[in-house]
Amino acid sequence: MPKARTENARKMGPAAVRTGAVMAEKRLSHAYMLLAPEGPERDQTARRLAAELLCAQPEPPCGRCRDCRKVLEGVHPDVTVVAREAGTKGLRQDIVVGQIRAMTADAQLAPNEAARKVYIIDQADRMNQQAQNALLKALEDPPGHACFILCAASADALLPTVRSRCVRAGESAGRQEQTRALSDLARGYLEAAASGDLAQTVMFCMNRVKLTREETEDFAGQVKDAVCDILCGRMADPGLGREKLLRLDALMDKTEDYLRHNVQPKQIFGLLAAETLR
Ligand SMILES: [Zn+2]
Repeated sequence: MPKARTENARKMGPAAVRTGAVMAEKRLSHAYMLLAPEGPERDQTARRLAAELLCAQPEPPCGRCRDCRKVLEGVHPDVTVVAREAGTKGLRQDIVVGQIRAMTADAQLAPNEAARKVYIIDQADRMNQQAQNALLKALEDPPGHACFILCAASADALLPTVRSRCVRAGESAGRQEQTRALSDLARGYLEAAASGDLAQTVMFCMNRVKLTREETEDFAGQVKDAVCDILCGRMADPGLGREKLLRLDALMDKTEDYLRHNVQPKQIFGLLAAETLR
């Protein structure tokens, strides 16, 4: 990442780091290069960037609109992940030209729901030469609605011509600091859930049965905001992982629903004690 951009991002706070790639260019780019070690964190950053590209809200990714939620849950019809295919002996060595051609053909078609289509190329450094040349053609003359996110551990294996057409993105996402003040209550709950310790979780919930309805409502809202921030990479994950986070989000929806139906906090925290680690 060029020094100026890093400093600028720091000056503007974590939100600027989040949108660094897009904002620094003052326009949307068609291609982003996400350089980070392989793993869930990189996958998450790629999804967050995809959400940012598809979210139509004023401060993308909002994490709450239909597009954001679908992207983060991995079910958005306008986000396609291209990865090494399965061969007879496990995964193939390379991403091959046929895959890239299929992708660029698909990119010619209009988006299904969003204003754009996003293609996440996982292990872009595993594209062989032919595949990279095919991609290069798409990068040179991309359909207006198509965006490509190349995820790679390093740019070394990418052709200089491919590299030069990509904007670096998401570099500091993993190092972002927590931006939103989280109440001790919501934090305690997330930590208990992340610990996987049943006794700790039950104890936490049982100590909360005297909360008022308003406090319980606040609690559910804060947990949901935190889940959203973690999924969007704006807050560090205390060790929950995507699946658990989505489950906690659903559990908080249920909590809000119960409150609307006049279920008492005492019963709700009883339910959370039983369901949180399920
Ligand atoms: Zn959104």
